[in-house]
Amino acid sequence: MNTTAHAHPDWTERAAALRIDGRCVIDGQRLPSASGQTFSCLSPINGRSLGEVARGAQADVDAAVASARTAFNDGRWAGKPPAVRKRLLMRFADKILAAREELALLETLDMGKPIQYSLAVDVPSTARCIAWYAEAVDKIYGEVAPTGAHALALITREPMGVIGAIVPWNYPMIMAAWKLGPALAAGNSVVLKPSEKSPLTALRLADLAVEAGIPPGVFNVVPGYGAEAGEALALHMDVDAIGFTGSTRTGRRMLDYAGRSNLKRVYNELGGKSAFVVFDDFADVERAAKTVAGAMFFNQGESCNAPSRVLVHDSIADDFVAIVAAQAAHHQPADPLQMATEMGALVDDTQLKTVMGYIEAGQAEGARLLAGGQRVMNDSGGYYVQPTVFDGVSNGMKIAREEIFGPVMGIIRFKTEAEAVQLANNSSYGLQASVWSDNINRAHRVARALRAGTVHVNQYDEDDITVPFGGYKQSGNGRDKSLHAFDKYSELKTTWIRIDAA
Ligand code: NAD
Repeated sequence: MNTTAHAHPDWTERAAALRIDGRCVIDGQRLPSASGQTFSCLSPINGRSLGEVARGAQADVDAAVASARTAFNDGRWAGKPPAVRKRLLMRFADKILAAREELALLETLDMGKPIQYSLAVDVPSTARCIAWYAEAVDKIYGEVAPTGAHALALITREPMGVIGAIVPWNYPMIMAAWKLGPALAAGNSVVLKPSEKSPLTALRLADLAVEAGIPPGVFNVVPGYGAEAGEALALHMDVDAIGFTGSTRTGRRMLDYAGRSNLKRVYNELGGKSAFVVFDDFADVERAAKTVAGAMFFNQGESCNAPSRVLVHDSIADDFVAIVAAQAAHHQPADPLQMATEMGALVDDTQLKTVMGYIEAGQAEGARLLAGGQRVMNDSGGYYVQPTVFDGVSNGMKIAREEIFGPVMGIIRFKTEAEAVQLANNSSYGLQASVWSDNINRAHRVARALRAGTVHVNQYDEDDITVPFGGYKQSGNGRDKSLHAFDKYSELKTTWIRIDAA
């Protein structure tokens, strides 16, 4: 790709010229929904329609699952040597990178994040995830159990079969890739149901997989509403596992669907209310404050691991809070199609109302609004909210208990280490947490005490496909990313072989 020639495309012009194909991808083909029904795909940037998308429902899910099952049973994918699956998945990853600009534009138009981040984060991370699992799959060995001379016990991994992947809208491609990478590399077939709020990149990923030579039926996409396509997939009797990422509310339903159908495995990656704990023995208050603002307001605050509960020691809180409030100015929302934009639009009108409702609740409960709090850019027709900081929050307030999923941070002051740990862990969520301290003993002690799937020490930015991602408590079960994700999409088989004495 000639990057020089495309160094500064006019994204607004490109967006105007874009024509989308919103049909399902089933058995390697683009198909309208069986009912012929569609829904309008609205852009949060300006509220206008990007085009019509197939409104998938039971019949489309049935067709996609049947195609995935046939592809699985006839061995066109599962039966290929791992090195062959690797080669095709690497080609898929290359195609994703080659389509970087198109995919980035679709992602930004569909869910409102700044184009600079769709280009620099979402597309490369998606490709890297697929490539990483591709590279891993021919390096994983089975085991021989230490059972004695009379027998041989082999422990091997087998693909599960048909995986239903149901994903949210905040990182549409990356969330899909976290399921697709390990599920496809392990030899499964997949039916992906993207969010109705952001279906476009998932459909293009399936086209690219077909172009890369991944056999038809191995990766299908059925767009549609949660209560229609999502429910049909999660209740399906021929789906072996659901890889779900979304809200805790919908995660509960996933467990119920499994119980009411075939007891399929359910892996839930759910919400968060992550605590960011800053002690008075951390010298660089400015770095901690800038880090929390960057992490909180990235992706418009629509990140499951956003550090939305900020616990600060009383003695440094005034300095810390002043820096955080000033930082909010660097994250003001602007047109997501401009390369300099740091913060884009919230995903839709519903999310805007939810976020504004929490800002009102914070004020009503007596928290002190330090920055933001307003909807802006109303003339654009899109959904933009200022980065918002509340001081004087108590852990019992609604804005400290519930996931807001928007650019709203609450600052809670504490006096002792025991109090900080108690407050941090007093949440129904346990996705991530962080501790900031220059005292090595305290840093380790608190990192151990925090009940979260990931704990950051003196930073919040590190992230890599090599490390597991997932939550304690009502933030979910199972882990995305790393080799541990293979556990979700493979069955462990024990084979006993008798060895007779001579
Ligand atoms: P959501 O639960 O509303 O929707 C997620 C997906 O489930 C969508 O595809 C939706 O169509 C589908 N769905 C909704 N209702 C359904 C139903 N009744 N039956 C079947 N499917 C249904 O969540 P969202 O608003 O799209 O995403 C935001 C949530 O995702 C936040 O809570 C966030 O924390 C979470 N999230 C978690 C992680 C993680 O790794 N833990 C990562 C990203 C987002």
